[in-house]
Amino acid sequence: MTTYNFSAGPAVMPQPVIQQIQAELPSFQGSGMSIMELSHRSALFDQVINDAEADLRDLMQIPDNYRVLFFQGGGTLQFTAAPLNLATNHHHIGLLDSGHWASRAAEEAQRVHTQVDILGTGATNQFTALPYPDQPVNQALDYVHLTTNNTIEGTTYTKLPDTGNVPLVADMSSNFLGQPYNVQDFGMIFAGAQKNLGPAGLTIVIVRDDLIGHAKDLPSMLDYQLFADKRSMFNTPPVFAIYAAGLVLKWLKAQGGLTVMAKRNHDKAALLYDFLDQSTLFNNPVKPADRSLMNVPFVTGNPAIDARVIAGATDHNLLNLKGHRLVGGMRASLYNAMPKAGVQALVDYLADFEAIYK
Ligand code: PMP
Repeated sequence: MTTYNFSAGPAVMPQPVIQQIQAELPSFQGSGMSIMELSHRSALFDQVINDAEADLRDLMQIPDNYRVLFFQGGGTLQFTAAPLNLATNHHHIGLLDSGHWASRAAEEAQRVHTQVDILGTGATNQFTALPYPDQPVNQALDYVHLTTNNTIEGTTYTKLPDTGNVPLVADMSSNFLGQPYNVQDFGMIFAGAQKNLGPAGLTIVIVRDDLIGHAKDLPSMLDYQLFADKRSMFNTPPVFAIYAAGLVLKWLKAQGGLTVMAKRNHDKAALLYDFLDQSTLFNNPVKPADRSLMNVPFVTGNPAIDARVIAGATDHNLLNLKGHRLVGGMRASLYNAMPKAGVQALVDYLADFEAIYK
């Protein structure tokens, strides 16, 4: 029985990429050394990081006035780095409170003495619909923080909020490369790799170059301008994670790029949502227009039955369906590398469970 991994992250990666990593792990490009043993100052690694950046630029059509930076520290470090680097004028940002990760971003910004205005909240509807600014956005904000995809709540912004001239900073951790976005709509985009791009340990930052270089006396490891000047090699970058992410980027290009991925992701998500919507046992509570293509939470309403669903799924090699501890129930993450056959296997299993349960 094929194993399908529905984990929210670290998450499924494309099988051909895993096989390529396995094949070239002992000797990278005939060097006699593993990629894990290569100096980040070597010509071989230079090619790896340059290719990764070029392929990412190509896939996302990143304009020349945006810098691509490779960080460690996860999405969480960017909750600190973004205000330190970009909130230098007013020390004041806006944030759309769309769920757990948005709240975490607000907390970390406040820790570095940035004033955070909540422009709209989903708390009033248990985060089953996305908040937009309640009133025209104050133009004296350094930026507005937006979580494009809410991994726990299972929501995605399909329409971006109007913030006037205030740049949007997007936490795209869980839908990075899952669909095309217009990079110019954002001042900055960041994403931890371990959901839709590759192994944990790498975080991508894409930032408009006029927004950086204004902060004074930042710790070096948080300084976007320094990372841009040093081509993300101020210190040792996560060599293996960049290599693996680079292979995923090549795989994405070979699949036809982000428009093709978006179509596949729509098809996969529709398969599961259509099943859930006709089910009398399972329920996804999210407003249809705001539903995520990447993370699909669902419940039976009875935690004991949910536990049976998850245990039975595991017996069918449908893994990591347990919902986030904050919301319970089940969650299926359907990132780029999840094949449609995996979603079909899940739907078949859930339908069988429902039939027997009745
Ligand atoms: N933002 C979002 C939307 C996330 O889903 C996550 C992780 N689940 C994070 C930020 C935090 O990422 P990390 O664990 O890489 O710090």
